[in-house]
Amino acid sequence: MTVLTEAPPATTTGGPRPLRTGAEFLASLDDGRVVMVDGQRVANVATHPAFAGAAQSAARLFDIAADPAMRERMTYPCPETGRPILRAYQIPRSHADLRAKRLASETWSEVSYGLIGRTPDHVAGFFCGYAAVPEVFAAGGERFAGNVVRFYEYLRDNHQWVTYAIVPPQIDRSKPAHRQSDPTLHAGVVREVEGGIIVSGAQQLATAGVFSDWLYLSCIHPLQPGDENYAIGVAMRMNAPGLRLYPRRPFALQVDNAFDNPLTSRFDESDCFVVLDEVFIPWEHVFIHRNLEVCRDQWWKTPAHAYGNLQAQARYVTKLRFMMGLAKRMNEATGNDAVPPVQVQMGELAALAQTVETMLEAQETRATIDANGVVWPCRASLYAVMALQSEMNPRMIDIMREMTGAAMISLPSSVKDLDSPETAADMERYMRSGVSGARDRIALMRLAWDFIGSDFGNRHQQYEKFYGGASHLVKQNMYRNYDFRRATGLVDSALALG
Ligand SMILES: Cc1cc2nc3c(=O)[nH]c(=O)nc-3n(C[C@H](O)[C@H](O)[C@H](O)COP(=O)(O)OP(=O)(O)OC[C@H]3O[C@@H](n4cnc5c(N)ncnc54)[C@H](O)[C@@H]3O)c2cc1C
Repeated sequence: MTVLTEAPPATTTGGPRPLRTGAEFLASLDDGRVVMVDGQRVANVATHPAFAGAAQSAARLFDIAADPAMRERMTYPCPETGRPILRAYQIPRSHADLRAKRLASETWSEVSYGLIGRTPDHVAGFFCGYAAVPEVFAAGGERFAGNVVRFYEYLRDNHQWVTYAIVPPQIDRSKPAHRQSDPTLHAGVVREVEGGIIVSGAQQLATAGVFSDWLYLSCIHPLQPGDENYAIGVAMRMNAPGLRLYPRRPFALQVDNAFDNPLTSRFDESDCFVVLDEVFIPWEHVFIHRNLEVCRDQWWKTPAHAYGNLQAQARYVTKLRFMMGLAKRMNEATGNDAVPPVQVQMGELAALAQTVETMLEAQETRATIDANGVVWPCRASLYAVMALQSEMNPRMIDIMREMTGAAMISLPSSVKDLDSPETAADMERYMRSGVSGARDRIALMRLAWDFIGSDFGNRHQQYEKFYGGASHLVKQNMYRNYDFRRATGLVDSALALG
């Protein structure tokens, strides 16, 4: 690690605090952050009907990590003090460390069946990657390396949740950031002031931003000379003056009971369009300042992107396992489970799910250790799945749809039909399956619809396509990481045969 040359920032607290509980997390959300829904400011994210269900699910993450019975699984001893710290913030120095990080992510992902994408371990992985290779930031000035390491230690010691917005708004993709109709449309530095910089503009799309403690603002989109003002990496608290969050339509607002929308009501993490109106960033929270090379290298010359997306893939594996279980239970309910063509469809689904799971393990088993003793997950294994996910995921959803026929549609309007004296008898008689009563069958099919067909389910399909960036960019990551030398070596040796 780089030797720190600057005084510690105000965010340093002098060692790890006790693990954060769910109640502490919920209380922390009432901090004046500006979240706008239906033209109005949300008074408290933890209690607003758009977010309260998901907030409770997120609180469980912290309770699980703070549970002494989960100490080994979810935490590791702070290198300096020995006090427990979230594995999310562990910089892996052995293959066993990397596996332990993944298992902690797996445990968290099971809380939402893989349906909360940006749990705190996602962006935590990026900061582990930055702190593991601070030299990349030092290329922009030694103090930036110090800043990023100290900020990582602060996040780690205080069990913080960071979201990120690293893609410019779509406004006009035909022009670079500095050629937009107004130079402050894309988020960027507008001026330096005493003690820091001012940033303004917009950025997409801070998933789980309403629940996070911090926003990391940077840019993964290719930038070009002239775009220097947008080549930044800065952190701000979610209640920073001038920061406004515009979540997309919160799906939980459309539902009035958990029986009919069991997933929407609990796991809608939200995706927030971010507006920055003259936000002050103190220098200690600036890690990249007007530097195109460092802005690019943070993603590819550190293990940040690989750590963050190791979490994304661990979560995806859990979601696919849930999908497999759902498909199996639906086939049992419809009585088609033993039909050979249905088993063939299930076989295809299982092959895809198993491929993703095996590739997740390959990231660990094929991981490499750099000169500083830091473990980097195998990026070829990571990007192989990410590059195909935008095609594979819709295929899997399509197989699910094929297998269910009208099962998710020929259902009563709501749980009230099960309870009303006028309708209950019809429900009991005709809504049952060969293996369960009406209530259980309806609950299963509502769960399936919420997974596949509801607004929440459809948003998830968009998420799996785009959470790692548009697929043409992800495929370029794969291109850069494939072992072409070995492949072309084979061809060259065949040509040498004469
Ligand atoms: C549900 C969801 C959650 C997200 N969460 C986050 C988050 O937490 N943080 C964050 O920073 N971002 C997040 N994103 C944003 C995501 O990173 C971007 O949406 C993604 O990078 C795609 O960029 P875009 O939407 O700007 O698409 P564009 O770059 O505008 O591309 C749109 C489409 O145009 C086509 N296209 C454009 N250019 C080319 C080209 N050169 N070659 C071939 N085809 C091309 C492709 O079909 C592409 O899919 C999220 C997105 C979604 C949908």
